[in-house]
Amino acid sequence: MTEPTVVRGIAAGAGICVGRAVLFDGRGGVPLRYVPESMLELETERLRRASVASLEAVAELRVGIAAESGESAAALLDPLVHMHEDPMLVERAVDIIRAQGVNAEQAVVRAAADLSTSLLGASSSFFRERAEDVRHVARHLVHALRGARRKPAADDPPVVLVADALSPAELAAHPRGRLLGVVTTTGSGTSHTALLARSLGIPAVVGARALSLEQVDGATVVVDGLRGVVVVEPDAETVVDARARADRFAAFALQLEARRDLPVATTDGVEVDLRANLEMASDTDEVVRHGIAGVGLFRTEYLVLAHGRMPDEAEQTRVYEGVVRALEGRPLVLRTFDLGGDKHAHASLFGRSLGAGFRARAGLRRALEDPTWLVPQLRAAVRAAAHGPVSILFPQVSGVAEAEGARALLDRVRAELAADGEPVAEVPMGIMIEVPSAALLAEQLARRVDFFAVGTNDLSQFTLAIDRSDAQSAEALDGLDPSILELVGRAVRAARLAGIPCSICGDLAADPVALPLLLGLGVTSLSVPRDRVPEVAEVIRRVSVTDARVAVERALEAATAGEVRALSLARFAPRLADLWVEHGIDVG
Ligand code: PEP
Ligand code: MG
Repeated sequence: MTEPTVVRGIAAGAGICVGRAVLFDGRGGVPLRYVPESMLELETERLRRASVASLEAVAELRVGIAAESGESAAALLDPLVHMHEDPMLVERAVDIIRAQGVNAEQAVVRAAADLSTSLLGASSSFFRERAEDVRHVARHLVHALRGARRKPAADDPPVVLVADALSPAELAAHPRGRLLGVVTTTGSGTSHTALLARSLGIPAVVGARALSLEQVDGATVVVDGLRGVVVVEPDAETVVDARARADRFAAFALQLEARRDLPVATTDGVEVDLRANLEMASDTDEVVRHGIAGVGLFRTEYLVLAHGRMPDEAEQTRVYEGVVRALEGRPLVLRTFDLGGDKHAHASLFGRSLGAGFRARAGLRRALEDPTWLVPQLRAAVRAAAHGPVSILFPQVSGVAEAEGARALLDRVRAELAADGEPVAEVPMGIMIEVPSAALLAEQLARRVDFFAVGTNDLSQFTLAIDRSDAQSAEALDGLDPSILELVGRAVRAARLAGIPCSICGDLAADPVALPLLLGLGVTSLSVPRDRVPEVAEVIRRVSVTDARVAVERALEAATAGEVRALSLARFAPRLADLWVEHGIDVG
């Protein structure tokens, strides 16, 4: 009998599941054949035909997803379609067939290895993301060369998808009812695949580096998306325990949902404005359906990522107006495109069609120098503001000049729309505090903008100098580091002094151990992933700000994130231990 193997990764998706693991990329070795010289041209033809077939298969899949899950989910496949159209990989493989006399499958694998090795050697995550794209397409090509990938049938049993990497598009492409869970050996908890898994409510563990894909294929696995643990070939007791915890978690989620209409206020009566983050416009209805107060962060860059191209002004106007209308009067914070870094999922596309400006993560600086894409977005956002309460948020602001530049550009756009006779509503303008320089200059910035939104994901990565998409450093990237608390505290204080709102919208806001400390810093506005709203509300309802203030004063004197966590665990366990346990946190 096989021994159970326990592999640790990063908790990335809601819940726990038990199921059969299926290797997503079906690696299973690619055969090597030497092709006689007289047949080499036929082999290159075979590859070119497979490339067309593969593109058609992806396009067909897109049609199916659109019918099953809607256009916005289907649009997540567009970048993959575009990558197929890029001749780079196929042409390199053709060269290899001719030069090395090998079969097309081998040539594709070798071409992808060549291309991705050189891209992986680059220091920028831009190129590393491209390497991943190349590998995705190579996988599709090999499948097409071997005969079409078998589509999952409606009556196939649901499975746990296991892969080295999975793009948000591949995750969205898998039929929902057949997907029990997801495990990847790479990736980070704040990667966009992880965000998507969470928003679809799929148990997921990413960055499970020690997992052997060959061994896990076909095995029974427990995916604990709460603790970030995968158990391969679990014993009967582990399965029973996992199922019981999965049921308890589901019941717990229902229980929280039942309390959703209670006020979100601390035990000493401090009300908190708790909103949801929004990635796909089509999820707006879910925000309303769950009775959430509004959207605190609309990551509009998903429009670009999903479509694989820059949507024009008319299209953006349609989407933003649609979101505002669907929110039926609830407030919307619309963030301008924040592309780059881990969001460069389809980098070749941006390089080709969106212009070199997108190569820089510090998007606002470049966008202000050349506002060709920002102006249409602002025009569309201001138009949407005529239909409901919209605020505009600029990401990656690093200093006063950028905040002033953003304000001037927004004023110009509003004046131009007014001159054209369009109704122009008041639009509060805010900035993300997610670059350390902005947190340090918070007092000066607060005098120049209408609100702050603190992005703890980027603030942590820039302050601690740890790439958020690097799975190997994920544990060290802890937003509860005292340095981050200090910077968040500065932003909150500066906002209070200037009389402007300040929300927290990074992942730290949904961390049930960090949350009491944020309340202690004076935070009264949060935006978290939609599925986390009920639990965050429950934490708030059990904590007193007076208590939290004392705790955070001590936390600010701690030396490490570990000390801060231990302090919060010890102080708030009497009130929160049961919540933490359901969340998979070891309360000792
Ligand atoms: C952040 O950086 O914390 C944030 C909320 O923005 P994003 O995760 O989209 O970069
Ligand atoms: Mg950010």
